[in-house]
Amino acid sequence: MAVTELSFYDRISDALAKPEGQLAIAAGARAKYDNRARAMSEFPNMEFTRDRARRIRAQTLSQLDKFLAEFADNVEALGGHIFWAKDAQECNQYINEIARAKNVQLVAKAKSMLTEEIFLNKSLEDSGIDVVETDLGEFIVQLNNDKPSHIIAPILHMTREDVGNVFKEKLNVPFSDDPATLNAIARAHMREIFLKADMGISGVNFGVSESGAICLVTNEGNGRLISTAPRIHVAVMGMERLVPTLADLSIMLQLLARSATGQKLSVYSNILCGPRRKNEYDGPEELHIVILDNGRSKILGSTLSEILYCIRCGACLNACPVFHSIGGHAYGSVYPGPVGSVLSPLLFGEPWNPLPHASSLCGACKEVCPVDIDLPGLLLKSRSQQILEGKSPLWMRLSQWIYAITSCNPILFRLALRSGQVVSRILANDGWFTTLPGPLQGWSIHRDFPALAKKSFRQLWDKPSQD
Ligand code: SF4
Repeated sequence: MAVTELSFYDRISDALAKPEGQLAIAAGARAKYDNRARAMSEFPNMEFTRDRARRIRAQTLSQLDKFLAEFADNVEALGGHIFWAKDAQECNQYINEIARAKNVQLVAKAKSMLTEEIFLNKSLEDSGIDVVETDLGEFIVQLNNDKPSHIIAPILHMTREDVGNVFKEKLNVPFSDDPATLNAIARAHMREIFLKADMGISGVNFGVSESGAICLVTNEGNGRLISTAPRIHVAVMGMERLVPTLADLSIMLQLLARSATGQKLSVYSNILCGPRRKNEYDGPEELHIVILDNGRSKILGSTLSEILYCIRCGACLNACPVFHSIGGHAYGSVYPGPVGSVLSPLLFGEPWNPLPHASSLCGACKEVCPVDIDLPGLLLKSRSQQILEGKSPLWMRLSQWIYAITSCNPILFRLALRSGQVVSRILANDGWFTTLPGPLQGWSIHRDFPALAKKSFRQLWDKPSQD
């Protein structure tokens, strides 16, 4: 992933300076959070199912080599092609080669964060191929030359008026902010694309090892159209996105829909087994499944491997107070929110190291995660790993070093405390600092900082009668 020009802290400042965007994000995420809570409260045996889902993910990842081999054999037995891609470049090159060999002019795409991760669209467009996103949110993102801000709801940061303006400007239609009208415009535009596309590209929600089937989940039906109407279907799957059996898939689907949108089941859960066979009327002539590593095998062997349990439901984003305030773009990664804060530094490297620090560790993300990933624990591990490897910023290392020395030495500790009390007495206003000096300013830009108490707990303890 390309290094973003602004630092994480600058992107946060930018996001906080746009109150309308913030309101749209917080309202959208809150609505999804409430829908999930309602759906889960009506779900019998929710905790049992969640526990089972976690065990399925753990079992799959503990024997991933075996399940991947079984999956690949079964896909090939069904007539599909498997390509193992080590990284983004290999994956994009393979898809470009197929497109070139098969004279593909137009690609219709379903929403896939994995293809965003590897900049597949750009790679195809650079080869002169037209690529059209067919998920409504992704279509709007593409029209607006924007980036998705949420893994489930790509335009969470936009209002209806924003969408109306994009359609007016880019599709040359009269302005409307009525969702039904906007949908009808997009649908009319999209119909042609489905009919004309030579190649459909999708991600894979789950691959099923025992049968070689792939499952695509959408609410708009576009996944079904792009995987059946064009003559070639290419599905790009993260190597961790497997379940052993169809029965395991049913557990995942129940949790995915409820966690993502509060639905009992997504509107279209497509289970696709190979390309079109003789005497069948629909389906692609060719099915290619690209199994992409792109850093995942390294994560698998690390202390943060639990993050690979993720089924990309987006619930942790909707629950996160930090995400509510800064939105998805500020993370500068295709994977924002708590899951992205763990995953992005692992996949994309050092520029994303500040992300795990943007968490209050309140635990809301773990509470809603359908596979019970210990996100706060992983965030802490990620932070401590950075510190142990000397990757945290100099100011943080320095301040932690000073804190460690001061707090381990009673004389220095008392001296620091007394100095703080004196400074508080002189500079604080009614018990609060409204601005802090130097690098501490970041705290007081958005809230006041409490002054030190006139007497510390220890001083009160030593001489209770005088107070
Ligand atoms: S970490 Fe859990 S809650 Fe967050 S997207 Fe992944 S599965 Fe959903």
